[in-house]
Amino acid sequence: MRLTHFILQRIFIILGFSILFYSCQNSEKKEGIYIVTTTGHIADLVRNVVGDKATVVPLMGAGVDPHLYKASLRDLKQLQSADLIFYNGLHLEGKMGEVFHKLSRMKKVFAVSDGIPKDSLLMVDAENHIPDPHIWFDVQIWLYCLDKVCKEMILADPENKEYYLKNTAKYRRELNGLNSLIKSGFQTIPRNERLLVTAHDAFGYFGRRYDVEVIGLQGISTLSEYGLNEITTLSRMLISRKVKAVFIETSVSEKAIQSVIEGCKQQGHLVKIGGSLYSDALGAANTPEGTYIGMQKVNLKLITEGLK
Ligand SMILES: [Zn+2]
Repeated sequence: MRLTHFILQRIFIILGFSILFYSCQNSEKKEGIYIVTTTGHIADLVRNVVGDKATVVPLMGAGVDPHLYKASLRDLKQLQSADLIFYNGLHLEGKMGEVFHKLSRMKKVFAVSDGIPKDSLLMVDAENHIPDPHIWFDVQIWLYCLDKVCKEMILADPENKEYYLKNTAKYRRELNGLNSLIKSGFQTIPRNERLLVTAHDAFGYFGRRYDVEVIGLQGISTLSEYGLNEITTLSRMLISRKVKAVFIETSVSEKAIQSVIEGCKQQGHLVKIGGSLYSDALGAANTPEGTYIGMQKVNLKLITEGLK
């Protein structure tokens, strides 16, 4: 009995050391500044500021829904070995709030949304002060997040201050160009027909900035349910305004949107799917829609062509 106990004890000690050694190897310090972000939008924003001074890794790839995302063991290791972490905040990463809260006690963890003046936020529930987290859809609001990243990078790495300021100014010019492009793009569509129907309510900021009426079938988070009433009301609205297209999203199930198309069809009105919009996730890396500016341009083309 004693011998078995002794052998078991040895096995546990050896196992313990192996696990410790393995974790040390995996959390090995990477060369240069190592930054981890949640979404691809934020990774792209940070990359435009840091250039070649840091490695930037997003946890969520193409087609991933941040509302439902849970950190894997691999993600936790990456977060632990990061020098800086940037996330969206405003409860976009619904299931990761606790992780960031704990990590913020030991390292630099920033919500890019902290750079936005409170009165610029769109409220989905004003009474309970619940803001819409889809801030990247208003390019002018995204500029506040750009400044927030630049400010934190200068504090973290003051030696490269001029470099970060120069990169930020360059990207600001590009974003201002994008903002004008989206604005002028929508002016080609008559106001009454500027109705953007999507799978979930991600385009609120987009609608406010670019003067487009926006309806998401599911709520602000993909967690919320949609019902028959919403589908009936929406079908009637599409019919009365002769809207030609509705849109699906790359990171959300298209089931709800298909119900609306079916609802219209039963009443003799044909509505097509105008395309799959990039909402809460960028496209694949190394494609035009794999960058923030690229995904905005693809969306703009799909929406304006679909509604015409
Ligand atoms: Zn969303």
